[in-house]
Amino acid sequence: MEIIKINCNSCGAGLQIPDKVEFFNCSFCGSQLKMVKSAGAQFTEVVGELVEHTEAISQNTNIIQLEKAIERLDRDWERRKEQLGLEEHDGSNRQVAITIMGGVASLAFIIFWINGASSMSSHFDDPMAKVFPLFGVAMLVIVLINMLSTPQKLSSFQKAKQQYEEKRRELLTELQQARRE
Ligand SMILES: [Zn+2]
Repeated sequence: MEIIKINCNSCGAGLQIPDKVEFFNCSFCGSQLKMVKSAGAQFTEVVGELVEHTEAISQNTNIIQLEKAIERLDRDWERRKEQLGLEEHDGSNRQVAITIMGGVASLAFIIFWINGASSMSSHFDDPMAKVFPLFGVAMLVIVLINMLSTPQKLSSFQKAKQQYEEKRRELLTELQQARRE
């Protein structure tokens, strides 16, 4: 068995390695080395560092993917809020109260309008005078439909918001883990 004098390709230390051995560790820096024989010359190639490097790259890819997943989730949520027509709402009880109060104020105004318009129209024989109270009734119907659909809309909004926040928390936890590794 022949002993080869060779240098570590990582730290430069002189090593003595049996010529049949292909993989070994540097006794000085611990690098995983590979014996390379090429055109009558022998030298070492670092294997260990290469492996760590590859692991670091795949770890980074994982982090980037998680960050992208969170961005995508946020974008989807913004779009979903627009679809629900409640983008300015946060789904809180305060928002629900404001919505109901707004509806009640609208109703009060419309009833006041119908009342005034019908007492005015009773003084005119022109059938056009009936348009004003009828306009008020149409408004009343629209506001009522809107008010009645609000609790349903808000509850599906809150459900969607909950799902979004849960998913986001999961992704963030994964991301924090990936960054710590
Ligand atoms: Zn070494």
